Amino acid sequence: MTTMTAPKAHAAEQSSNGILHDVGLPDDPNNLYTQTVGSMLHAAEIMDLPRYLRLILAQPKNEIMVHFPVKMDSGKYELFKGYRVQHNNALGPYKGGLRFHHDVHLDDVKSLAFLMTMKCSLVGVPYGGGKGGIKVDPRKHSATEMERIVRRFTAAIAHQIGPDYDIPAPDVGSNSQHMAWIADTYTFLSEIGGHNPGAVITGKPIEYGGSLGREKATGQGVVDTLVEMLPELKLKPETSTFSVLGFGNVGSWSGKIFQDKGAKMTAVADHTGFIRNDKGIDANDLAAYVHQKGGVAGYSKATTISKEEFYKTQVDVFIPAALEQMIQEPEANMLNCKVVAEGANAPTTPAGERILQKRGIEVLPAILCNAGGVTVSYFEWVQNKTFQTWELERVDRELNKHMVKAAGRTRDARRKYNCDLRTAAYAAALERLQKAYEARGIFP
Ligand code: NAD
Repeated sequence: MTTMTAPKAHAAEQSSNGILHDVGLPDDPNNLYTQTVGSMLHAAEIMDLPRYLRLILAQPKNEIMVHFPVKMDSGKYELFKGYRVQHNNALGPYKGGLRFHHDVHLDDVKSLAFLMTMKCSLVGVPYGGGKGGIKVDPRKHSATEMERIVRRFTAAIAHQIGPDYDIPAPDVGSNSQHMAWIADTYTFLSEIGGHNPGAVITGKPIEYGGSLGREKATGQGVVDTLVEMLPELKLKPETSTFSVLGFGNVGSWSGKIFQDKGAKMTAVADHTGFIRNDKGIDANDLAAYVHQKGGVAGYSKATTISKEEFYKTQVDVFIPAALEQMIQEPEANMLNCKVVAEGANAPTTPAGERILQKRGIEVLPAILCNAGGVTVSYFEWVQNKTFQTWELERVDRELNKHMVKAAGRTRDARRKYNCDLRTAAYAAALERLQKAYEARGIFP
């Protein structure tokens, strides 16, 4: 058993590695969870965070794994694996997306749940952190199979979620239709029943309790962050060039909205290929093409390039918006940009980041940069709980307020602790969590 010192005692501190060892985490520098928690522990060290808090935050509260059978269109049954990890709820109900991907593992989900705790604290929404997923490739299933998979998964975790306890949302591979099935299934299964399906999940279709502005929210938040932070780096959105890795929800909306500010997108990559056009690629036109064809490959208004050429394309801003750990040492060495704006969660490995730092490339960390999604999810939840419908203009205005504030808190922490922006963002998030723990103490 791990011993914890009392909240106020603030005992002698231990190094990050010591904490990881104490909570039984592998000493593997390539492990995603070790990497993400390691960054937080680095900030904790710099700000001298009490040891008991480091221990609490180094592991999730609950790790739920479910297995459930589903009937396929062929009449045969397949067994699926699902996850829900609830990292921390000191600041409010667990909150975080559901990833539908053939390669999703418990460690990924744990990392993403941990990032949600940090993100919600930094951006100032009253939530903790959670994340979940199903090990499934949605592209390999018909709509009817997906509906049965999603509804059966919902039934499997129904007792572990709830409008005031744990509120999922979309992530990679999941969409508003999936959220609608989850809301409907949960409402149906709920003993209380009722007609307010929205509050148990966010990212729903507008017609069924969704919020205006939620679909574009993460991309909007990426661009709000860029508008706030670029002037410090002597860059202007209207004269910036940029490239995007991953052109799904986050990548395409970041591209479209940054383009609306006058920036020019010159290279894009996704799981189907790499494309470039120095004269500019229209993000709206490319998004329509990707919607139809499933990827950027074959887009005729740009040239197909190699992976190496993509990373070496000279731009002001590089927006990773695909999956985790995609900017490792080779990519960090190739990148030819001034700023990396992390639309994806944990896209940069610590080793990759060290190279970027050495090369003077600024990183706008994910817990700041991509917090727009959870912020508008919060607005959706508030609307559901109060039976209101907000205008898009109000959603955008409130989102911008949160993003500007979070950027300001990150800058303040950078000044206070004299550190890089990622460490500063974690420090600002940890300060809020520390205050909450000091106020509430630990039961009993
Ligand atoms: P998405 O499924 O809509 O898009 C994912 C994109 O990544 C696709 O374009 C896909 O082609 C690309 N991709 C996948 N594997 C790739 C590979 N090996 N090489 C290149 N590209 C690859 O997902 P999304 O919702 O846009 O999420 C993207 C990232 O943003 C994830 O890290 C997610 O956790 C994070 N995020 C999403 C939201 C949100 O609101 N959707 C909020 C915060 C963070």
